[in-house]
Amino acid sequence: MLKAGSTIGIVGGGQLGRMLALAAARLGLHCHIYSPEKNSCAFEVAAAATCAPYDDETALARFAAACDVITYEFENVPAKTAAYLARRKPVLPDPRVLEITQDRLIEKNFLTELKIPTAPYASVHSATQLAEGIAKVGLPAVLKTKQLGYDGKGQAKIAKNGDPAAAWRSVRGAPSIVEGFIAFEREVSVIAARSADGKVECFEVTENEHRDHILHTSRVPAKVTPALAADARRIATRIAKAFDYVGVLAVEMFEVRKGRTRTLMVNEIAPRVHNSGHWTIDGATVSQFEQHIRAVAGWPLAKPVRLGKVEMINLIGDEVNDAAQWLTVPGAAVHVYGKGAPSPGRKMGHVTKVISR
Ligand code: AMP
Repeated sequence: MLKAGSTIGIVGGGQLGRMLALAAARLGLHCHIYSPEKNSCAFEVAAAATCAPYDDETALARFAAACDVITYEFENVPAKTAAYLARRKPVLPDPRVLEITQDRLIEKNFLTELKIPTAPYASVHSATQLAEGIAKVGLPAVLKTKQLGYDGKGQAKIAKNGDPAAAWRSVRGAPSIVEGFIAFEREVSVIAARSADGKVECFEVTENEHRDHILHTSRVPAKVTPALAADARRIATRIAKAFDYVGVLAVEMFEVRKGRTRTLMVNEIAPRVHNSGHWTIDGATVSQFEQHIRAVAGWPLAKPVRLGKVEMINLIGDEVNDAAQWLTVPGAAVHVYGKGAPSPGRKMGHVTKVISR
C-alpha cells in the first residue's frame, strides 16, 4: 500500500493521464507523466514530467527510479517499453494485458475462451482469407486492422452488396479481422475496478451513442433491464479476474435483440480508464480515475454511488469553442483538457450534466 506522498508514474500524457493526475493529487499522491509529446496536456497538472521517446532507455530508467509504481493511460504502450519498465518497478495493470488488448484477434480469442459472446469473426491476412472470412461471418461486415485501431480508424464496412476488395485496399493489406456487422439495439459499457487483493467494483452500466465512430454522449442509467445490467457487470468482472487485473478497465458491449431475448456481445476491452466513464467525476461519489489510482496504489476501492441521472457530452474539435455556454447551465460540469488547437475528431473536453433524482 503506497503511502501518501508516493509517486505514481503514468505512461502517456493525454486527457486520461491528466484526469488520473488530478485524482491522485486529491488523495495526496504525486504523478510523474512520461510522454514523447511536448504539448502533452497531462504535464501541466502533474508533479513531474519526462518528455522523451518511448524507446529512450536512459529516460525510462530515470523515470522508473523516480516512481514507486507505474501505470499507463493508453493501450498502445510499446511492449518493449512496458517490459523495460516492469523490470525496474511494478507496472499495473500487468503488461501481459497489453499483449492481449493490442491485437483484436488475440482479444477476441481470449473472450471466446472465456465463453463470452462476441460478433462472429475471422482472421484476415489476404484477399482470399477475406473472402473466406465473409463466407463465415456473412454480410454486411466490418473489416478492422488487428492493431492500432481506435475511434473507427483502420476500419471499413462492407455492405451487403459491397466491394470486399475496396475494403481490403482501404486497410492497405494490414493484418486484420473481419466481423459480422451487428444490428445492435444499443451500445453500453461497464467500467470495472479491481484491487490488488482481487475485489471488484463496477460502475453502473453506461449507454453510449457514437457519431462518426467517436463517442458523443454517454447516459446513465442505461435503458437496459436489471437482468441485462447484471449480466454486463458479470462479464466485466469475469474479464478483470481472468486478467488478474489491477486498476480500471472498460468493456464495450452491444445489446442485441433476438425475438424477445436481449443478450450482450463484447465489442472491445480497454485496459485503462475510458471516455464512457468520464461521467463518474461529477456524477458519482468516486470517479473511475480515483478508483484506478486507489487500485494501483494498493488502496481499498470505494463503493461508487451515483448522484443522479447523468449525461456526458464530449466536446469534439471546434465544439470546445462552445464550452463557455455550458458554464451557467444548472447541473453542468465543464472540463476542458487544455490540448491547444482543436482539429476535427479530436477530443478537447467534455461536459457532464447531473440531474438530481
Ligand atoms: P471499435 O473501434 O471496434 O470500438 O468500433 C467503433 C464503433 O464502430 C463501435 O462503437 C460501433 O459503433 C461500431 N462497430 C464496431 N464493430 C461493429 C460491428 N461488428 N457491428 C456493428 N457496429 C460495429
